[in-house]
Amino acid sequence: MNEILDLWYSESLAEDAKFSIRIKEHIYSEKTPFQQIDFFNTDTFGKFFTLDGLIMITEKDEFIYHEMITAVPMAVNPNIKNVLIIGGGDGGASREILRYPTVEKVDMVEIDERVVRLCQKYLPITACKIDNDERLKMHFEDGLQFVKNSKEGSYDLILVDSTDPIGPGEGLFTNEFYNNCRRILSDDGILINQHESPYYPSYCKEMKRAHSKIKSNFPIAMVYQFHMPTYASGHWLFGFASKKYHPINDAKFEKWNDFKIKTRYYNTDLHVGAFMLPSYVKEELDNS
Ligand code: SAM
Repeated sequence: MNEILDLWYSESLAEDAKFSIRIKEHIYSEKTPFQQIDFFNTDTFGKFFTLDGLIMITEKDEFIYHEMITAVPMAVNPNIKNVLIIGGGDGGASREILRYPTVEKVDMVEIDERVVRLCQKYLPITACKIDNDERLKMHFEDGLQFVKNSKEGSYDLILVDSTDPIGPGEGLFTNEFYNNCRRILSDDGILINQHESPYYPSYCKEMKRAHSKIKSNFPIAMVYQFHMPTYASGHWLFGFASKKYHPINDAKFEKWNDFKIKTRYYNTDLHVGAFMLPSYVKEELDNS
């Protein structure tokens, strides 16, 4: 008699709540000096990978995260030329930012080369531009050190596409890191960061900690939301910080629309709405 395979991937959201996906296959597993990496295959979400037991991206919903991390700053300043990506080893943020013809140079700083190499093998949907676009330069080192060693005013945009502030990602949520980001951004530079989630207490705590540090380093520090089916609670945030630009009042929507970049989640109406936060989220951020 055939045995029926019934394997489930489960991620803890709170002590008594979990998010689970039935898996068809556990494709690959490796422990690197930085983290535990696992790749899975599923019917509903296609292939996905986890770092230290947390979902990073799935083939089906990655477009939401990667459009929102790139299109929002590009609509505020469509003249962005020099970009720094910290983390982002799956390649999705680099794929998306390189769709803009005005972007001249992207430095991508990923601490764990194995994430990149494995995503090239198992998730070419996001890693397709790595080693494939001469504007993109890879650096395999710690993002915290990289920003420390970078020159003042060298970037128009920094995308912090990091893991949560546990393990190697911890340094990317510190005052020292945000301070250096401000220093190495041009006067009209923009910082976008993975800003955690407001709903479950452990994530909300990190959201508040990040916000309090970013707002002490930048005159404009706001937060925008998006709906990510495979992230804890499905409600996730990016931070938008700048020395000069307000993300709505200074947005240049006509110019963004002139790029004629086809998106599945982002549009310029949603851009405005994404900054309209639920009252409980505003309250938590105000009290951070
Ligand atoms: N979209 C994902 C999410 O929020 O779940 C994150 C994308 S990406 C896979 C995160 C990457 O950040 C990982 O590949 C990890 O190796 C990298 N990373 C963590 N700490 C880092 C550091 N200090 N410097 C550079 N990269 C780092």
